[in-house]
Amino acid sequence: MYGCVTMFNEKAQMMKLKDIRELQEKRLVKMVRYAYDNVPMYKKRFNEKGIKPSDITKLEDAHKIPFTVKDDLRDHYPYGILAVPRKEVVRFHASSGTTGTPTVVSYTRKDMEVWGDLMARTYNAAGTDPGDIVQNAYGYGLFTGGLGFHQGAEVLGCAVLPTSTGNTKKQIKMMYDFQTDVLACTPSYAIYLSEATKKFGYDPREDFNLKVGMFGAEPWSDEARESIQESFGLKAQDVYGMSELYGPGVAVECPAQNGLHIWSDQFLVETINPETGEVLPEGEKGELVFTMLTREAMPLLRYRTKDIAVVNYEECECGRYHPRIMRIKGRSDDMLIVGGVNVFPSQIEAALLETEGIGEHYQIIVDRDVLDKLFVKVEVDKEYYESDQYDEEKLLKEASENLTAVLNIRARLKLLEPGTLPRTVGKAKRVIDLREEHDRIEEP
Ligand code: ADP
Ligand code: ZN
Repeated sequence: MYGCVTMFNEKAQMMKLKDIRELQEKRLVKMVRYAYDNVPMYKKRFNEKGIKPSDITKLEDAHKIPFTVKDDLRDHYPYGILAVPRKEVVRFHASSGTTGTPTVVSYTRKDMEVWGDLMARTYNAAGTDPGDIVQNAYGYGLFTGGLGFHQGAEVLGCAVLPTSTGNTKKQIKMMYDFQTDVLACTPSYAIYLSEATKKFGYDPREDFNLKVGMFGAEPWSDEARESIQESFGLKAQDVYGMSELYGPGVAVECPAQNGLHIWSDQFLVETINPETGEVLPEGEKGELVFTMLTREAMPLLRYRTKDIAVVNYEECECGRYHPRIMRIKGRSDDMLIVGGVNVFPSQIEAALLETEGIGEHYQIIVDRDVLDKLFVKVEVDKEYYESDQYDEEKLLKEASENLTAVLNIRARLKLLEPGTLPRTVGKAKRVIDLREEHDRIEEP
């Protein structure tokens, strides 16, 4: 055994590849039938494609199943593609959407149990033991991070400090007073915390007792990992998930830190070419597609994540056979993740256009010093700029308010004279992600 002292659900964690495949096949066949019988959307899709559940008898048949996409969930707002009576739902979560319609996900009691088990394994595989003190600084609420990391720690038998996000001074005091073992938060907040501890006069390696960090919800570089590990003297572990697939706990790094193990008794993963939808051979880089193998409330068949990565099917040095996602560096759509929050450029554009007096040329700049920062530069409408009514202060205030209303994060807005932003003949470069520049320099 490796990393933790006590193994939680060892049977599931240490399954052999052959047993994983057998279980996946059995569950896939059953799940397809379940989704077809209980979700009208799936029945319709199958019928349109001329396939029946009985056509899916082995794992290799998975590619015949139609894809599910995020818009399918938005189109079924608010109750989603429920496969059970509404009264059997015990929890809802939601993530922000592009157009203001959130993606709602639902869970039955059994789904909550499965998620709790997955999260407990996730903590454990990363090096957390029962009895550890877990400080959970993910946001509590509709976001799956807070309650997901909370429940999993309890299932494992840890003591949870539900500090949620923010209030950094108190956060640090508790980490010191309780001698917290495990810190759960976004990697960007972990970096911020490590800086802040020094500012408050602590020596993060000496004064704290952290051994493991459970960091996820956004992409982060090996550089960032080094820096967090170095300052706290802990093991910084990557956790992957998304609300559609329960939330966090789909995949996690073991102490080998060489890819994130996907809990494959619950998730069937495929890698596809994002343009053609064609399934790629093992080991090729592409878009990750997941089928949930036992979800009751909201079955998802071949769900397209838009996340681009390589999946490695070799046995890991930790002895686990659950295939590994080599760390996620990008997405196939234009969604930005700024400090753990999903931001779509189209949301920003819509908010700007809603403000009278704002022109149509804008630029979004994301940068990172300690934390991610979002800047928006926008030209004032020419006619309004030249008119007597032009009131810069008022316009800035209105546009900022409209932006804040759609984003879950603060953006710094700057008004520009008409004609200042560069014009291109081709596709405008609206988004400048300076974090990518840093990553390129840092990772030769
Ligand atoms: P959550 O509520 O967990 O943030 P969302 O559904 O809002 O889930 O966002 C999920 C997306 O966040 C994923 O599709 C992926 O792009 C990103 N993400 C989550 N965890 C990681 C991670 N460990 N590394 C890179 N990206 C991640
Ligand atoms: Zn491993």
